[in-house]
Amino acid sequence: MMYMYQSSLFLFLSILSSSYSSRVSPAVAAFSPISTTTTTTSSRTTLTKMASSSPSDGSSTKKNPPQHVIIAGGGVIGTTTAYYLAHNHGIASTVIDPTGTIAPAASGKAGGFLALDWNDMSPLRQLARRSFALHQTLADALGATRVDYRRLMCASIGVDPTGRMKPRGKKFDNIEWATKETTATTTTKQEDAIAGNVVSFQVMGDTETIAQVHPKKLCVALWESACSKIEETSNDSNNKKNQLVQGKVTSIAKHENDGSLVGVTLEDGTLIPGDTVLLACGPWTANIMTGIKYHSVIIPTDNVLHQCVFFAGCGDPEVYVRPDATAYCTGFPDPPQRVTEQPGQEEVRPEAADRIVTAVRTASSSSSFANNNEPEKVAACYLPSTPDGLPIMGQVQDDAAVYVASGHTCWGILLGPASGETMAHLIATGQTATDHVSLAPFQPARFRNLQLLEEQ
Ligand SMILES: Cc1cc2nc3c(=O)[nH]c(=O)nc-3n(C[C@H](O)[C@H](O)[C@H](O)COP(=O)(O)OP(=O)(O)OC[C@H]3O[C@@H](n4cnc5c(N)ncnc54)[C@H](O)[C@@H]3O)c2cc1C
Repeated sequence: MMYMYQSSLFLFLSILSSSYSSRVSPAVAAFSPISTTTTTTSSRTTLTKMASSSPSDGSSTKKNPPQHVIIAGGGVIGTTTAYYLAHNHGIASTVIDPTGTIAPAASGKAGGFLALDWNDMSPLRQLARRSFALHQTLADALGATRVDYRRLMCASIGVDPTGRMKPRGKKFDNIEWATKETTATTTTKQEDAIAGNVVSFQVMGDTETIAQVHPKKLCVALWESACSKIEETSNDSNNKKNQLVQGKVTSIAKHENDGSLVGVTLEDGTLIPGDTVLLACGPWTANIMTGIKYHSVIIPTDNVLHQCVFFAGCGDPEVYVRPDATAYCTGFPDPPQRVTEQPGQEEVRPEAADRIVTAVRTASSSSSFANNNEPEKVAACYLPSTPDGLPIMGQVQDDAAVYVASGHTCWGILLGPASGETMAHLIATGQTATDHVSLAPFQPARFRNLQLLEEQ
C-alpha cells in the first residue's frame, strides 16, 4: 500500500529493493577492481584487509561452531547477532565499537517504526515478516516498557498549505491529533482551523501490522541480555565471556603459518583475540557502501498519541509518535555519499533540523500537535546502503571465519532481529538459512571486488 506515496524514507528504498533483479547488474558493474592489501606486522600474525572470495551459492563450508565471535559494530545488527549467538547457540562474543558504547550511530537515532508487510513485494519479505514476529517475542522477553515497544496505527495524510486543494467536508475524522482537539462545543470554524491543510487521509496500517520500538533501548537491552545469558553458562574461561571494547577495527589478524583467524587489530595496534569475525559496521563496513544522511528532531506532544503519520505535501515529513509523549520527526535526506564522518560524531546542521520542524508545523497547521512545543533533541545519522538497495549478509572468505552484515537501509531496526537470528545460525552451524529466512538474496559474493574495512 505504501507504493502510492512519494519521497518517504521507506518508500524510496523499498521500491529500490523491490526492483532488485533489474538493478543489480549495472549497479554491481559500477565497481571497478580494487587491489587488496596484505601487511605483515609481527612474526605471529598476518593482517589482511582483503575479503573478496566466498562460495558463489552463498553456502558455508564451516563445520565446527566458533569458540568466540568478534563483532565489529555495536548497532542493531551487531547486538541482535550477539543476542542470538548467546541465546540460541551459547556462543560468547566481543562487541567492538569506536565509541565504546552500544548503538551510537543510526541504531540509536532511528525512528523505530516497524511494519509487517511493507516489504512483501521485495526480497526482504521473509526477513521483514520474521523480524516483525521476533520484535513481539523480544518485547515479551526483554519487557515491552523497557524497550518502548507497542503496536499502533499509521496513516498517510495529504496536506496543502496553500488551501487551494482543500476539499469540502471533514477530512480529518480519523486524524488523531486533530480529533483530540475537537469537542462538542467546537465550532465549524475551529474545526477547520484544526484540520488545517488536510486534503486527504489514508490508513497505512493498524495494530495488526504496525509496531514501534525505541531503537537505542532495544540495542542496549539485547546486549545486556546476551551478556547475562553467557554469564549464566560461563565456566570462567575467557572464551565464555561477553565484553564491549572501545576501538576501531582496522584489519583482520591471521596466523601467518596456517592462515587461521586469530582476531582483529584495532587502530592503535591492539590485537583482540577471537576465532570468528562479524563486520557489522553500518555504512563504514565496506567500499561498496554509501550512507544517506538524515536529520531528526524529537518534539514533545501534549498527549501520548498512537498514530504515526507520513505527510504527503510540505516536503513529506514523517512523524513517529512515541509512548513518552514525544514525536520523532524526520525527512529531507542528503544525497547518498561515502561516509567520512566518524560514528557517533555525525554533524547536526541546525538549518536541516529547523527545516523538519517547520515542515511538520506547516503540515499539521494550527493544531497543538507540534506547534506548542520546542524540539527537545536533534540528531543526524546515516542509512547504510548497498548499490542494489539490499543488505549484504553472509560469509566473505573461504575459511568460514569472516562474515559481514550491513546495508539494511531504512529498515535496519525492523530487520535487525531476523538478521541477527539468521547470522548467528550461519556462524554457529554453517547453514545459510533457518526455517524462516534464507540469506541467498543477500550474499556478499554478488559484489565483485568487495573490500572490507577500507580506510575511512
Ligand atoms: C533518520 C533515520 C531513521 C530511521 N528510522 C528507522 C525506523 O523507523 N525503522 C527501521 O526499521 N529502521 C530505521 N532506520 C534504519 C536503521 O537505523 C538502520 O538501518 C540501522 O540502524 C543500521 O544498523 P547497523 O547496525 O547496520 O549500523 P549502525 O547503527 O550504523 O551501527 C554500525 C556501528 O559500527 C560501528 N563502527 C563503524 N566503524 C567501525 C569499525 N571500524 N570498527 C568497529 N566498529 C565500527 C559504529 O560506531 C556503529 O555503532 C532509520 C535510519 C535513519 C538514518
